[in-house]
Amino acid sequence: MISIAKPVMGEEEKKAVMEVLDSGIIAQGPKVKEFEQGFAKMCAVKHAIAVTSGTVALHLALLAHDIGPGDEVITSPFTFIASANSVLFVSAKPVFVDIDPKTFTMDASQIEAAITPKTKAIMPVHLYGMVTDMKAIMEIAKKHDLVVIEDACQAHGAMLNGTKAGAFETGTFSLYPTKNMTSAEGGMITTDDDEINEICRVIRNHGMRRRYYHDQLGYNFRMTDVHAAIGNAQLAKLPDNNTKRRSNAKFYNENLKGVTVPFVPAGYHHVYHQYTIRVPDGKRDALREHLKDNEIGSEIYYPLPIHKQGFYIDMYGEQSFPEVEKAADEVLSLPVHPELSQSDLEKVVETINTFMVKG
Ligand SMILES: *Cc1c(COP(=O)(O)O)cnc(C)c1O
Repeated sequence: MISIAKPVMGEEEKKAVMEVLDSGIIAQGPKVKEFEQGFAKMCAVKHAIAVTSGTVALHLALLAHDIGPGDEVITSPFTFIASANSVLFVSAKPVFVDIDPKTFTMDASQIEAAITPKTKAIMPVHLYGMVTDMKAIMEIAKKHDLVVIEDACQAHGAMLNGTKAGAFETGTFSLYPTKNMTSAEGGMITTDDDEINEICRVIRNHGMRRRYYHDQLGYNFRMTDVHAAIGNAQLAKLPDNNTKRRSNAKFYNENLKGVTVPFVPAGYHHVYHQYTIRVPDGKRDALREHLKDNEIGSEIYYPLPIHKQGFYIDMYGEQSFPEVEKAADEVLSLPVHPELSQSDLEKVVETINTFMVKG
């Protein structure tokens, strides 16, 4: 079976975890600090704040920017549910805009029409490992005095014109096992802003600046040193692993037939968290079955857009985003992870081309 994702724990991760277990400091300690410093360096930002998941990173970033009841956050409905749910956690309202059909990320040209006096933030989602049109988004945010929180949960190391995902304003990352790097479970917030950094650290630890004196409502969002030890080992492997993902994608781009391969505009550095094709003529589900019959894993990210999820319809009624709905019917993500062999890649190509061209 060629699987869609394959997290790999090597000797480095095992050794690092054992060292922590032997050290006597297992909760948040020196390994978390080292991980935060390394992650900040990777993104070329001043601060990184480690938390327990990508979902928590989004939640904490919204809290740190003081987004709450009555506020609106503009985001994409074509993403994992946690992106929009985080807005609900702070009792704000997610306001959706359609995607650009070529890139699958938020269509920046539709953002201004969605801005109201209640809009507080824009939350672009760097889906599949490619940054959203941040040049346009940062200009709109500046013009309308809005906060930008990047959902970079799928985009560790991605860039636009040399700027890393997470470095545009406030970034959020997931470290779940299927992502480009992992700490088992975990998340990171990235920022150049000293005040946002400070407030994230306070809210992460029970709203406490001085031991047992609580300035505000806080949470326990702390990462453990056990997880950070895994994260440190994985961070060291990220550049090589992203290079492998990119070279796997290049092979697919050059060899797949009868499907639409990912579009990468000039200046964009895609890290292929997912390699996602569009399958025309309603053949997507049949192709997926055919791949399964040939022991090739594939996945649909995401089959039901957020605005079509039942509890979102209950809250906000029926909404329509035609490009999102079309994408949900056509997309298929193929195995692109760094552990694929040349023969795996050839088998995937052969299986798809036979089905699409001859089948
Ligand atoms: C994975 C993911 C999240 C949530 O991260 P967790 O670590 O699983 O909580 C949020 N947004 C996007 C786009 C993701 O892919």
